Amino acid sequence: MSLSDELYRETILDHYHNPRNQGVLEHATAEAEGVNPLCGDELTLFLNVDQGTIKDIKIKSRGCSINTASGSMMTELMAGMPLDRAVEFVSIFKTMMLDKEKEVELPDEMEDLEALKGVKRYPVRIKCALLPWNTMLEAIELAKHGGGKAAPVTTE
Ligand code: ZN
Repeated sequence: MSLSDELYRETILDHYHNPRNQGVLEHATAEAEGVNPLCGDELTLFLNVDQGTIKDIKIKSRGCSINTASGSMMTELMAGMPLDRAVEFVSIFKTMMLDKEKEVELPDEMEDLEALKGVKRYPVRIKCALLPWNTMLEAIELAKHGGGKAAPVTTE
């Protein structure tokens, strides 16, 4: 294992054992669920959106290390962010995980997420990493259209 692999593993384990913004947000303006049947990952994402900005974000993860770490890093990144920018960041992350040809240069704010790049080598686990982000898109859509609770998202 190279030094960077080692560091990436530590970042993932840190977020898995001490997930950030974990829990339930009372009175969330938007709430969405994500399910990855392949691995058994499940999560609920809560957003408090005010004037197009994510004021508060919480996630309740019940899943594997990749899924939990990915969700934890995502909530850290998205807190305080305007919705449109959040959508851009989801798109950058998805390109990093899904585009086989393109080497994606991550913006500084997404530095930690570099740790998940190695997951690309394990196609089954890519879905684990993507689940929080696909659920995020659903929650953002909802928040933009008056909020509420979304039907569960299943990552394909
Ligand atoms: Zn998983």
